[in-house]
Amino acid sequence: MSESNIMNTYGRFGVSFEKGIGCKLYDSNGMEYIDFVSGVAVNCLGHSHPSIIKAIEEQSRKVMHISNYYWNSKGIELAEKLCSLSEHDSVFFCNSGTEAMEVGIKVARKYGKVHGGESKNVIIYMKESFHGRTMGALSVTGQEKYQKDFKPLIGGTKSVKFNDIKDLEDKMNENVCGVIMEPIQGEGGINVVSIEYLKAVKKLCEENNALLVFDEVQCGIGRLGTLFAYEKFGVVPDVVCMAKALGGGFPIGAAMVNKKASVLERGDHGSTFGGNPLAAAVSLAVLKELVDGGVISKVDEKSSYIRAKLGILKEKYPIIQEIKGIGLLIGIKLNVDVKEFSKRCFENKLLAVTAGKDVIRLLPPLNVENEDIDKAVEILDKVLKTYN
Ligand SMILES: *Cc1c(COP(=O)(O)O)cnc(C)c1O
Repeated sequence: MSESNIMNTYGRFGVSFEKGIGCKLYDSNGMEYIDFVSGVAVNCLGHSHPSIIKAIEEQSRKVMHISNYYWNSKGIELAEKLCSLSEHDSVFFCNSGTEAMEVGIKVARKYGKVHGGESKNVIIYMKESFHGRTMGALSVTGQEKYQKDFKPLIGGTKSVKFNDIKDLEDKMNENVCGVIMEPIQGEGGINVVSIEYLKAVKKLCEENNALLVFDEVQCGIGRLGTLFAYEKFGVVPDVVCMAKALGGGFPIGAAMVNKKASVLERGDHGSTFGGNPLAAAVSLAVLKELVDGGVISKVDEKSSYIRAKLGILKEKYPIIQEIKGIGLLIGIKLNVDVKEFSKRCFENKLLAVTAGKDVIRLLPPLNVENEDIDKAVEILDKVLKTYN
């Protein structure tokens, strides 16, 4: 077996995982790891969840994929469910986060055309943000390291400093058609938006007739203790982009709009696989567990449990600068090299990835058990000790 046939775009750990159950993963030698990455906030119900397996089995026996030339009840049911649980009215289905962001970008551009003509085309995005790797999403991703080798990007974009009202006021005008942001910047370092800033963003969008687009790809679908991240902040965006946990491990993305942002018409956008019956059936099963099954309602409790333990570690180890984030989107800010820290966690059989330049990210499944939290914290304690 040789890995050289896979394009070398990732820095990977030297392990191959072949099996998972709950928040445990097993490598090709049968070695057990505690998975606090969850496929980067994807496996919200852990690995091998029976409801997901059942949905795949049942739906794959009926029909997996048709085409968006035809209807299927699963997609309709999923859209109904998402709209009934939100302030929004319609959904476009795709297959990933970056694709969901493309919908957000196109909706904003079309909204500008419809309401202000050719000149209303400016999209504002945040520094340190992450929205994906396609050229559109990359063009609104505020990190030079991702953009630099792929310029020219799409035009008509402007970046502002996150949580800086003055900077946004300076750059906002009637030519802006949309403001795109993550309520909590995941990749950028678990940076939480301030409510004051969010309210100002919403007000500036309204005053300038621009759409507010939330990227909830990482922080949405229960991770903050509410189904949608915006519920945690009490500011409702016009467009919500989601993916990752929406399928619990099966690829699906979606962008959901309110009436105001409902501008896309027949022929404006498309996706061959978007909203296929199999993905929709899995997503319905995931939402049933998360919402109706009460998984999300326990997130705050689990968050408090792990954060109390991390607080104790912070007292014990001065290399911990801060415990960041909300709910089960957790960042540990360290004053040591976080790549090395993540490697030492891995060597001790705990999976945790970095965020930004100085943060270790913990993204346990939303149904994580306290015993698994205890084990993970024990490993963190052991790793932190190696820095004394
Ligand atoms: C992961 C992520 C994306 C991109 O999603 P893909 O499914 O990898 O395309 C976009 N935005 C945020 C906030 C993300 O965390």
